[in-house]
Amino acid sequence: MTRPRFHRILLKLSGEALMGPGQFGIDPETVASMAGEIAAAKEAGHELCLVVGGGNIFRGIAGAAQGFDRATGDYMGMLATVMNALAVQNALEKIGIDTRVQSAIPMSSVCEPYIRRRAMRHMEKGRIVIFAAGTGNPYFTTDTAAALRAAEMGCHALFKGTSVDGVYNADPKKVQDASRYDTLSFNRVLADDLKVMDASAVALCRDNNIPIVVFNIRQPGNLAEVLAGRGTATIVQN
Ligand code: UDP
Repeated sequence: MTRPRFHRILLKLSGEALMGPGQFGIDPETVASMAGEIAAAKEAGHELCLVVGGGNIFRGIAGAAQGFDRATGDYMGMLATVMNALAVQNALEKIGIDTRVQSAIPMSSVCEPYIRRRAMRHMEKGRIVIFAAGTGNPYFTTDTAAALRAAEMGCHALFKGTSVDGVYNADPKKVQDASRYDTLSFNRVLADDLKVMDASAVALCRDNNIPIVVFNIRQPGNLAEVLAGRGTATIVQN
């Protein structure tokens, strides 16, 4: 299957993608290998910005189950994404890639606040902008933040890095003959409640005509391959 190539993309990295073999937190080796993947994509001429999740550290819903107020838990989750963003920034800068972290919750001694026009300018200068703190609002997720920033930054696609190589009709880790979709429509994803990203993120991408490319970020070299229109992935589009 040949897929369209996308020049400017937003890459959504979940907190889990930074966790490596562990069950919690940030694995420096894994973060370094993610940075290598991103560097290869940049080297191939793509413009990238990133949204990082925080689920490897804290999730508001899990916090609420333990008795935290939901909104408080969500703010804790957003702060977790800032830690991840700094880890990714550090790994990218170690290999000579210019980056800026912008947080939706202003934290002036740690990183820049989110300012769309400034983020655009960074991208024009070839920097990788890492968006932290999600949307800045509780009751949202970093998936929605990824869709929102992708629209704001004029990205041609949202790349969702996961631990499987696309969207399946059943969980491929549990069901042996589960089959992978090459393409899917946004409406099908929403109607069948397929676990691509959360519904608000999918709807935002649909309404703004931003394809979602679901691919395996754990496979070395895969981001650049998929960006080149090769490799295995599922593309969700109108
Ligand atoms: N979060 C939030 N608003 C946002 C983005 C994130 O409240 O706009 C909180 C929410 O509690 C979420 C946590 O931050 O559970 C971590 O983000 P997410 O679960 O999306 O991370 P991922 O699953 O991608 O690692």
